Amino acid sequence: MNLEADENRFSQIAELLVSSRHAVVFTGAGVSTESGIPDFRSPGGIWDRFDQSAFDYSSFLTSSQSRLAHWELFRTLSHRVEPNPAHFGVAELCRLGLVKAVITQNIDNLHQRAGVPDELIMELHGSMKNFTCLRCHAKYPLDKIEVIMQSAEVPECPHCRGILKPDVVFFGESLPGDTLERAVFNSRASDLFIVIGSTLAVYPAAYMPEYALASGASLVIINLTPTPMDSQASAVIHARAGEVIPEIVREVKRRSG
Ligand code: ZN
Repeated sequence: MNLEADENRFSQIAELLVSSRHAVVFTGAGVSTESGIPDFRSPGGIWDRFDQSAFDYSSFLTSSQSRLAHWELFRTLSHRVEPNPAHFGVAELCRLGLVKAVITQNIDNLHQRAGVPDELIMELHGSMKNFTCLRCHAKYPLDKIEVIMQSAEVPECPHCRGILKPDVVFFGESLPGDTLERAVFNSRASDLFIVIGSTLAVYPAAYMPEYALASGASLVIINLTPTPMDSQASAVIHARAGEVIPEIVREVKRRSG
């Protein structure tokens, strides 16, 4: 990161935040890569290691081979990881009342663990925090599932031996309607929309900044690589989220002195 060149943009973004009425943060995989969570689409990411065609909801339900593949992936994703400075920075901006909603494509629960209240978060693709039995609808926290995983390749519901599924959105499944509705509402209500760590490639999630722009919001993009919406943003920073967000928080605090 070229700190000097970015200095002006930190201050510009801080100014936008302080003068905003309804700032919304939108995050993708890039906010969590510094926590050690592998990205799905980057080279060396999840889809380089797993055959994406084996993953969809109907084959998960009907094929034990597909369930085995899914559980290998869940194992990879359930490794213990911690929030990084980007997550803590976003949580701090929420605590200061400057960010009113956090929309995320991530399923890692790291925003909540960094201190963002549940009611401010919209997890568009669900979360690995809980698993549900598709037969008896019992819910199990990830901790409990991790214990079962130690002795079973494909864990089953301890009650009824039904299929267990994490509360995440699978390929071929639609996004949770109420969460999507809240995300659209907040995007349209925003006057400042800050994208962090998303290449804006996955729809319908990537519609959110478009809704925000259409409603007259300013767009800020913080991502390691360029995105298709960079040209429409008021400020763009191509750097790691964990380096940028703490700088912006510092600028914001300097202003509110
Ligand atoms: Zn069950």
